[in-house]
Amino acid sequence: MTSKLASSVRELFVAAVGRDNAFSDPDKAVDYGHDEFSLKEIAREPDLVVKPKTTDEVAKVLRIADARGVPVTPRGGATGLCGGCVPLHGGVVLSLERMDRVLEVDADNQMAVTEAGVRLSDFARAVEEGGLYFPPHPGDESAMMGGLVATNAGGSRAVKYGTIRNYVRGLEVVTPTGDVLRLGGKLEKSSTGYNLMHLFIGSEGTLGVVTKVILHLNTKPGTMRSLVVPFAELEPALETVPLIMKRGVVPLAIEFLEIEPITLTEEHIRKKWPTKLGATHLLVILDAPSEAEMDRLSEAVAAVCCEKGAIDVFIADTPSKQDEVLAIRSKIYDAIKSGTVEILDIAVPRAEVAGHVRKVRQVAAKYGMWLPTFGHAADGNVHTHIMKARFEAGRMVPVPESDWRDKADLVREELFRDCRERGGVISGEHGIGLVKKPFLSLVLDERQIEIMRGIKRVFDPRGIMNPGKIFD
Ligand SMILES: Cc1cc2nc3c(=O)[nH]c(=O)nc-3n(C[C@H](O)[C@H](O)[C@H](O)COP(=O)(O)OP(=O)(O)OC[C@H]3O[C@@H](n4cnc5c(N)ncnc54)[C@H](O)[C@@H]3O)c2cc1C
Repeated sequence: MTSKLASSVRELFVAAVGRDNAFSDPDKAVDYGHDEFSLKEIAREPDLVVKPKTTDEVAKVLRIADARGVPVTPRGGATGLCGGCVPLHGGVVLSLERMDRVLEVDADNQMAVTEAGVRLSDFARAVEEGGLYFPPHPGDESAMMGGLVATNAGGSRAVKYGTIRNYVRGLEVVTPTGDVLRLGGKLEKSSTGYNLMHLFIGSEGTLGVVTKVILHLNTKPGTMRSLVVPFAELEPALETVPLIMKRGVVPLAIEFLEIEPITLTEEHIRKKWPTKLGATHLLVILDAPSEAEMDRLSEAVAAVCCEKGAIDVFIADTPSKQDEVLAIRSKIYDAIKSGTVEILDIAVPRAEVAGHVRKVRQVAAKYGMWLPTFGHAADGNVHTHIMKARFEAGRMVPVPESDWRDKADLVREELFRDCRERGGVISGEHGIGLVKKPFLSLVLDERQIEIMRGIKRVFDPRGIMNPGKIFD
């Protein structure tokens, strides 16, 4: 599918959203051709960017596009990491940025209703002002609610509170043919026919445009505490994670980290991590309704860690110590971004994480590459970073392209195969998008992919909705 818009068609789109909210000048449009995936070679310039304000305007845009066979790519905060909002075949980028109102925080039903273009940071603030709490917290707060739904985003708190899917109770979506569907509602239960709402969650903009979202909210947790636990070696650190869970403690998050990225991040944001001991650290974040319960949980976690040979257990129990630790964890990506080619997002069963990360180390040694690996250990979600840099004397040193380009492909493929052998999937939270599309058939059989294609045809008979993503 290719698109160069005829000026008469362009004018129809412009009329649908207003002249001030549509543009195609390359200086501005270039910013709408990529996401956070590092390699700019996947970027494509849209023929036109439209910024509708209402569901009705979204429906008008889609009807025009469907009638003329113009590809439409929905775009949220563009924080995606697999090229999902790249307009692969040109056409129209439909940016949700003007649909930015939190419409309601309904305390009695513990639900919020939001437009799709609200950023996660603004949504979380509005919910807290309403006295409630939205647990999922994927790492980039500039992501938009529609994008979070479209990718079924996760984040480190998924071990206790689940992913975005566990919170969505209703969606308003516009299908590629311009029909507005209102799916679900402020409902905690529904067994009323096929659940189309769940089909849209994680559909990466290939079935339609999410315009509104109804989300379940929790009450605020009482207290939070972070434990930083250094281990001399990788294996005991990762093998501790299933043991913590088996003892009946479900932390808010259990992250595993390597010392090199921590060192770079400390330097990058001028904050201090509690310890430099050991090679692999667990960051265990707990929440509890009372201090007494928090003490009980902390002691249980510390006991398991010590049994597995932890060097020490550092507790960040004041807000400032807590902020420092969480800031470092959340800024690792910024600190190593300039040297990163791709962030893998493999998810394996929790007890397989140690084995998979061991494989990462073998692959790193085989190809002579630095592959810093950390992630959501308790969710089995491992973020290996394929790098175009090496770590040397506390610094990130760039390596020439000839030293990483071909090897990156080999590393990716070997790790995806390892993931398959362990019963895993190639994306635990970021989605397939453009970048992982060639590998989908490694983990899903052809019949499943064919059924997915069939579902897409039902919603999108002309194939205009974010074409070329997930599968061809
Ligand atoms: C520093 C950093 C940390 C991150 N940490 C996490 C993390 O912890 N967990 C996690 O899951 N992800 C994480 N991500 C990835 C990213 O933030 C998520 O994938 C997020 O859900 C993308 O939302 P977005 O609004 O930026 O979507 P975009 O990047 O704009 O789009 C993503 C996909 O959704 C589609 N889409 C967007 N809006 C709509 C809509 N309204 N209707 C239909 N389709 C739509 C797009 O077409 C595209 O396919 C991180 C990214 C960065 C840069």
